[in-house]
Amino acid sequence: MSQDDIRAEQSLAPTIQAATQLPLLGLTVGCDGAWSARFWNRIGHRRYDLNWCESVRIAGEWFNATYDNKQIPQPPFREELTRTVSAWGDEIQALIGRVRIGVVGAGSVGSIVAESLARMGVGQLILIDHDAVERVNLDRLLHAKSRDIGCAKVRVLAKALGASATAASFQALPIEYSIVESEGFRAALDCDILFSCVDRPWPRSVLNFIAYAHLIPVVDGGILIHSSRKRQGLIGADWKAHIATPPRRCLECLGQYDPGVVSTERDGYFDDPSYISNISSDHPIYRNENVFCFSLAAASLEILQLVSMIVRPSGISNTGAMAQHFVTGTIEQSYDKCNSGCFFQSIVALGDHAPVQVTGDHRVARDARSARQSKARRAWCKFQQMLRSHYVILPKNWARC
Ligand SMILES: [Zn+2]
Repeated sequence: MSQDDIRAEQSLAPTIQAATQLPLLGLTVGCDGAWSARFWNRIGHRRYDLNWCESVRIAGEWFNATYDNKQIPQPPFREELTRTVSAWGDEIQALIGRVRIGVVGAGSVGSIVAESLARMGVGQLILIDHDAVERVNLDRLLHAKSRDIGCAKVRVLAKALGASATAASFQALPIEYSIVESEGFRAALDCDILFSCVDRPWPRSVLNFIAYAHLIPVVDGGILIHSSRKRQGLIGADWKAHIATPPRRCLECLGQYDPGVVSTERDGYFDDPSYISNISSDHPIYRNENVFCFSLAAASLEILQLVSMIVRPSGISNTGAMAQHFVTGTIEQSYDKCNSGCFFQSIVALGDHAPVQVTGDHRVARDARSARQSKARRAWCKFQQMLRSHYVILPKNWARC
């Protein structure tokens, strides 16, 4: 910035602060298309301090972001990334290395997506899921082993990704909350891009809200398996991948969830055994019962959507909403926009001012966390008792049962 630019923003800061009760946000774009941004925070009477933003994310058909090199330096490429960098070049890899990606849902699709991102050189992953590993997950949950049963899925995954990551400085942050809880929601808002690997309507509707109100692109997908319970045979399987971000079609208009079913889930009916026992086998709640090979295909399609949006091969960043049919091997593409009157198009970029509360209390997530904490406490007590029984004198500051 020139001294003239600095003086101009400094003189504007008091007027903006008085009119909005918010600090002035200054933005400039260089001749190379790179943006920089700073807040002018009030520190006294007519005194304003310049605070540079770490990064500026540009919303639109293709993804781009510019970073303040002093705060987030360009990561060095390790030898492990030689082939990857040769495919799309240093500039794109520098962007991938600094982008912060959230994977919401650490199930079968989410674990494969996270593994791909870690190997592609993504530097920061935020993993959001309240659930624990169960024995029935082991046929499709990447990295999970029988010894992990009962552990939080995000912790198991974060630990394994540390060994797979190729970035010079890699961080996987596990968040043991659902995206519908305020803690999970806030963690998602810290991301530049989100992957929706959830299997329920409420979390998907929250991610749709974030995509439009907070301008964070959401890569979403899903798997639908048709099988005959009578004949015990597979009839077909389909999987989809698309990105929800303005001006593309939103998840609700794509039919990825039914808003009527969201309110049923928010009211807790999906976790009520008496309600579950009365719903049909084709209800949305059962639609994501999948197997590893289909999860692999869906995760691959989702990752390719991300790569198109960032790399723009041959100038194409949008390959449309894609659906692949297993039986016929065909792929469908759609470039349709939102339906007229779509609510999400009316809240684009409103952020915290959007007139809707999407988070709420999630009893099952709460119970799952407290059960894990109790189990960890019991294991700790057992360990201390074992030490005492072997005449080991414990220091006074050790926690007692
Ligand atoms: Zn829409």
